[in-house]
Amino acid sequence: MIVKDLEFVKFITKTKVQAQVKALAEMINADYQSKAPVFLPILNGSFMFASDLMKQIDVPNKISFVKVSSYSGTASTGQLKTLVGLELSLFNQDVIIVEDIVDTGLTLQKIVNELKELGTRSVEVVALLRKPPAREKKMDVKYVGFDIENDFVLGYGLDYDGHGRNLTDIYRMKPTNSENPAL
Ligand code: 5GP
Repeated sequence: MIVKDLEFVKFITKTKVQAQVKALAEMINADYQSKAPVFLPILNGSFMFASDLMKQIDVPNKISFVKVSSYSGTASTGQLKTLVGLELSLFNQDVIIVEDIVDTGLTLQKIVNELKELGTRSVEVVALLRKPPAREKKMDVKYVGFDIENDFVLGYGLDYDGHGRNLTDIYRMKPTNSENPAL
């Protein structure tokens, strides 16, 4: 599949995504039985994941969509913006950040620090995808859907320069010959 100037191949089917989202929701339901967590999905990338996840959460909860941005094109710019759009008081709350993908973990680290300064009782993270840099750094992501390699991925909320967010399967960028001469 061509998106703009890049070629992508199917990577994780919607069936596998849905099964894993259900498993993550079940873990959260079990861990938060006597709590009422506040879910903070990070826009734009997590809108589809958050929507499917939240349909299966059966503990009392609140949801507030927030926004940050660190990516432009297919590589991290390293420029971090602050958390915006928070409508709820998080003082003394059990917060669960809902992320599409954790790569360097810079975004997450920044958000977690900001949230702790607001006097939260606990902050955990549920991420659909996790890349090697976050694993290597031992970023504290309690709930992970899929551990993947360093490929650029698209679909299920994730975009390439604004394209492809509505795809229900997850795709990965096909390496060009210059990046991997063996292919
Ligand atoms: P980090 O700060 O962990 O390096 O970057 C996390 C953010 O970068 C994610 O929330 C996502 O928006 C974006 N990102 C990281 N890897 C990918 C990827 O493979 N594809 C897309 N579309 N976005 C990515």
